[in-house]
Amino acid sequence: MLFAPYGVFALLAALVVESPSTDLFAALGMYTLTVISGLLLMICFYILIVWLFTKRSPKFFVDGISPAQLLAFSTSSSAATLPVTMERVEEHLGVEKEVSSFVLPIGATINMDGTSLYQAVAAVFIAQAFGMDLSLGAQLGIIATATLASIGSAAVPGAGMVMLVIVLAQAGIPEAGLALIFAVDRPLDMCRTTVNVTGDASVSMLVAKAVGKLKDRPFVKNWDDHYKK
Ligand code: ASP
Repeated sequence: MLFAPYGVFALLAALVVESPSTDLFAALGMYTLTVISGLLLMICFYILIVWLFTKRSPKFFVDGISPAQLLAFSTSSSAATLPVTMERVEEHLGVEKEVSSFVLPIGATINMDGTSLYQAVAAVFIAQAFGMDLSLGAQLGIIATATLASIGSAAVPGAGMVMLVIVLAQAGIPEAGLALIFAVDRPLDMCRTTVNVTGDASVSMLVAKAVGKLKDRPFVKNWDDHYKK
């Protein structure tokens, strides 16, 4: 792992020197923008469904969950963010512990919608970079394997890219294409982890609402409340 940055540098240096034009870099920029736009759309979608189904305003939801989003963004790990997500969801969004302690740990492990979006876009991008024509069947296969691969991804930095190998192999796309997207993976990991965590929080609110465990007035504890007898 410690040598990974040097490896990436070497891969990129070769790519830059051998590249006959700047087209590839423009394509990489477009790929990054596509992933980020997709992730932004997903966040809007979550805010919308929380608003529609729980009648909690977008401001309430965003104010409540933003510290967890920020931590997810800076650590790139849903697992590392889990304690903060639980605290925010219980104390600021009003989800009862009974629901949050069940939904959030499962969500942090298997609900990685940001990751599956990224894997699908990355697979199509790599296929295009290799001049491959993807049939409708191949595209549907990518959607299915990206969903399954994201469920199997660990909630740690870079896991989505490791599981991307499975998606590429299933679609018959050369795995060497991973070298193309390695350079922009970390910033995209930060963004997709933020979406993964937002998804977990939204789903826990929806489940809490469905089973009558969403409090009207969340109770924010003080830092030392847990220590009182
Ligand atoms: N870093 C992501 C997470 O922990 C997983 C990934 O997409 O690499 O949610």
